Amino acid sequence: MKYTFTLFILITLIAMSTFQTKTKADLIVYNAKVYTVDSDFSVVTAFAVKDGKVLTTGSDKAILDQYEAPEQINEQGRAVYPGFNDGHSHFLSYGMSLIRWADLVGTQSFEEVLDKVKAHHDQLKSFWILGRGWDQNDWKNTDYPDNTLLNRLYPNNPVVLTRIDGHAVLANAKALELAGITPQTKIEGGEIVLDHGKLTGVLIDNALDIVQMVIPEATQEEKTKALLEAQRNCFAEGLTTVTDAGLDKADILLLDRLQKEGKLDIRIYAMMSPTQENFDEFFTTGPVHNGRLTVSAVKLYIDGALGSRGALLLKPYSDMPGHFGLRLHPMDYYDSICAKAYKAGFQVNTHAIGDSGNRIMLQTYARFLKGKNDRRWRIEHAQVLSPEDFHYFGDYSVIPSIQSTHCTSDMYWAEKRLGPVRIKTAYAYKQLMEENGWEVNGTDFPIEDISPLKTFYAAVARKDIKGWPSGGFEMENALSRRDALYSVTLWPAKGSFDEKQKGSLEPGKVADFVVLDQDIMNCPEATIPHVKVLSTYVSGKKVYSSR
Ligand SMILES: [Zn+2]
Repeated sequence: MKYTFTLFILITLIAMSTFQTKTKADLIVYNAKVYTVDSDFSVVTAFAVKDGKVLTTGSDKAILDQYEAPEQINEQGRAVYPGFNDGHSHFLSYGMSLIRWADLVGTQSFEEVLDKVKAHHDQLKSFWILGRGWDQNDWKNTDYPDNTLLNRLYPNNPVVLTRIDGHAVLANAKALELAGITPQTKIEGGEIVLDHGKLTGVLIDNALDIVQMVIPEATQEEKTKALLEAQRNCFAEGLTTVTDAGLDKADILLLDRLQKEGKLDIRIYAMMSPTQENFDEFFTTGPVHNGRLTVSAVKLYIDGALGSRGALLLKPYSDMPGHFGLRLHPMDYYDSICAKAYKAGFQVNTHAIGDSGNRIMLQTYARFLKGKNDRRWRIEHAQVLSPEDFHYFGDYSVIPSIQSTHCTSDMYWAEKRLGPVRIKTAYAYKQLMEENGWEVNGTDFPIEDISPLKTFYAAVARKDIKGWPSGGFEMENALSRRDALYSVTLWPAKGSFDEKQKGSLEPGKVADFVVLDQDIMNCPEATIPHVKVLSTYVSGKKVYSSR
């Protein structure tokens, strides 16, 4: 009896002491395989979250002994990763494409484009008919289309159909008329394609602006709707940070407002377009890092895209003699913006696809950066590089911002444009990564699918979803799964100077994480693009669940 009583007291005391010493958390995740993606690439089984941040990570025993929380999730061994970050995307354009544009991605012929445009117009019945995503390289006839049929079908409605890369459009006669384009119109850094002196409706690079300027701007309500739809789709794919690579001031302020009102939970790296309005607003106050929104970079373009032959090459295109592509602005334009950005402490992120475009920008950056530095100026795409130019990335600490699905989308035809020699140092993602030991990965959506798992798959397998080519495309430039995971989590956070706040699951960082139904670090390669997102969390709050 005495012993029983003593035992009772003892158990009570132990229970009380355990109760008293347990630290309160908001959420505990345990019995999981948690890839923290910290600098040691440690894998743990549990972590605790408090006030939207990771309190600590460790073993189930360590976490459950020390913490208690109203919500404790047993993940039954499932894989958990930091929330994915798309380092180069166009979030607002993607949203607008969801609500305004006919989706022409994957069309196999121009006839199919016309069918989709008709179905879209029957539903929306708007005056302007907009579409996006055609790619003549996917058709039997890979020549540019012309607007003859569009003129016949839509004599009274302006129609503008944007090519997959966003660097060319097909406009019908009504749209060209409203934009005031005639066969005599000339534009620096752009091309108005003619056939026997007549307009074909194809406009390339800077020529797009003439027609885009007359398309009525979306209202704030439309944009809000677009952003919320885009956010929903991004959460469903495990993205917790996205990028908007080039926005005007009003749109950046709209993102900020929607975040502050609690409507947009997704974190956004908004690069500003090089407008005077943006410079006046942001250069005077300095870079913004408020946890949700980062505004620390200016986005520039040196050239166009490879598919539309706008990328600026050192030697002519292999499939178009005498054609080098286009430089979009005079040299002093780049110098003057780099000077302003350098002075204001902002990054410069320049779209560069061709080997000449890349060289011009790398040499321009080098004049300002002078040597190794921590300015994190970036080359967006860094797609075709001359073998002599890789060293600039390392010598001047320039960050490559790559899109691994561009490689697997372009691999069918890129060699036609570049020939057998230049293709060897194109899409050279591993070689680029090795220059600084890290790089940013993204999709450039809506140009590519928004899925970060497809980005990861393309980076490691360098095959399309059907597994072609069976040996992978130029496998010497494949990333390891470990590097590929860094490239969609911690490295893009570093690419926007946000690596102290996010990008890995470490104490003090935001609790942005994603639970997958399979472990992408170990599952068979071919299943990676089919892995399902089970849930997505931002600041410890569930924002998506398929369970
Ligand atoms: Zn882009």
